[in-house]
Amino acid sequence: MDFFDTAEGWGRDQLEQTQLVRLKSTVAHARKCNFYRERLDAAGIGPEGIQSLDDLRRIPFTTKQDLRDQYPTGMLCVPTSEIVRMHCSSGTTGSPVAICHTQNDINAWADLMARCMYMVGVRRDDVFQNMSGYGLFTGGLGIHYGAERLGCLTIPAGAGNSRRQIKLAKDFRTSVAHILPSYALILGEHLRKMGEDPRDFPLRIALVGAEPYTEEFRQRIESLFAMKAYNSYGLSEMNGPGVAFECLAQDGLHIWEDAYIAEIVDPETGQPVPDGTVGELVMTCLCRQGMPILRYRTRDLTRFLPGQCACGRHHRRMDRIVGRADDMFIVKGVNIYPMQIEQVIMTFAEVGQSYLILLENDGIGDLMRVQVEIRDEFFVEDMRVLQGLQKAIAQRLRDEILITPKVELVQSNSLERSEGKAVRVRDLRAKK
Ligand code: AMP
Ligand code: ZN
Repeated sequence: MDFFDTAEGWGRDQLEQTQLVRLKSTVAHARKCNFYRERLDAAGIGPEGIQSLDDLRRIPFTTKQDLRDQYPTGMLCVPTSEIVRMHCSSGTTGSPVAICHTQNDINAWADLMARCMYMVGVRRDDVFQNMSGYGLFTGGLGIHYGAERLGCLTIPAGAGNSRRQIKLAKDFRTSVAHILPSYALILGEHLRKMGEDPRDFPLRIALVGAEPYTEEFRQRIESLFAMKAYNSYGLSEMNGPGVAFECLAQDGLHIWEDAYIAEIVDPETGQPVPDGTVGELVMTCLCRQGMPILRYRTRDLTRFLPGQCACGRHHRRMDRIVGRADDMFIVKGVNIYPMQIEQVIMTFAEVGQSYLILLENDGIGDLMRVQVEIRDEFFVEDMRVLQGLQKAIAQRLRDEILITPKVELVQSNSLERSEGKAVRVRDLRAKK
């Protein structure tokens, strides 16, 4: 097999030996900031405290709140003069989380990102258009550096502005794009409105991530543009994109275990769940100097996929993220994730690009409304057809989530668009 670098092809033994060596040095290095020194000492883990990979479990978790408390530079493990870049996590609530990188950190990150892109067939003669926001968001510069590392002509188009995206892609024959799932469908719709068939667009590969989406959503993106869409997972606390990525088999995301250790734990107890069970992903970075982070509670829910991938790589795979522990909402006592709703509605051909889940309370109880955009060609049908569709969606949702939401069909493009990650749920109950 053709790998971007040797670590991509390592077997289990070599991966685990390297993880142990790097975990030992990362833990020793992390002691250079007060935060980790105190934490590790309190847990009885001295400078030589890691002897086996199992010792990882003795290290206390690091949470987003810890990172907020240490903002802006409390967790630096090198002098500030060594820092060349900072990024922030895109969380919209609470105070910010800043991650600082040395030049080595940036180089290692670019290599990992280039490895992801190379794995799905991106090569130096590709033209790469980055349709994600730049600035503090890691999906901009993070992927940008990976694409340049591969030698692609790299177009930093940024988010939104479909007209300009389309012009750039046509003029430069863009073959690979990084795009948010929610934006991919919007772009396709824009092309259609211009009287063009998105299948004629020059794209052949899309790197799609930064927010949860279902397999059904991926299939829509792929067939809309006649291209392959690969799932890209990452989070600022672990650099950003380049943490886990789908290979050509599209059967789970390989976690780059030479650079990270992944665990999946019960979000309530923090204890490891059996393989194959969904839980919260916990990540430790093994190659970071500026700001090493140990056992970070991502709040993202997924499971390890059993067995080896058909592609032959030995890096463990995780399933697509089913949601964030924080995204779960409760209606009439039932726990629901937005992706359960998306999975159902995206199987209806009439459904367009966007949807919104509204949670309300009428004083008697919780109400759940699902607003679903309908493609223009179906919106002109007569009322009976639309009512039939509405009923069919509501019934299928009921089968999935056990309560019957009110389904409202709305015109395409009528729901509010966000420039960054899509907002899928609006909970208006707290305001009552
Ligand atoms: P940020 O704070 O901007 O670094 O965003 C990181 C978060 O985005 C992750 O913790 C996930 O919740 C989400 N995310 C990133 N990539 C994916 C993906 N491929 N699928 C689902 N969620 C993702
Ligand atoms: Zn694979």
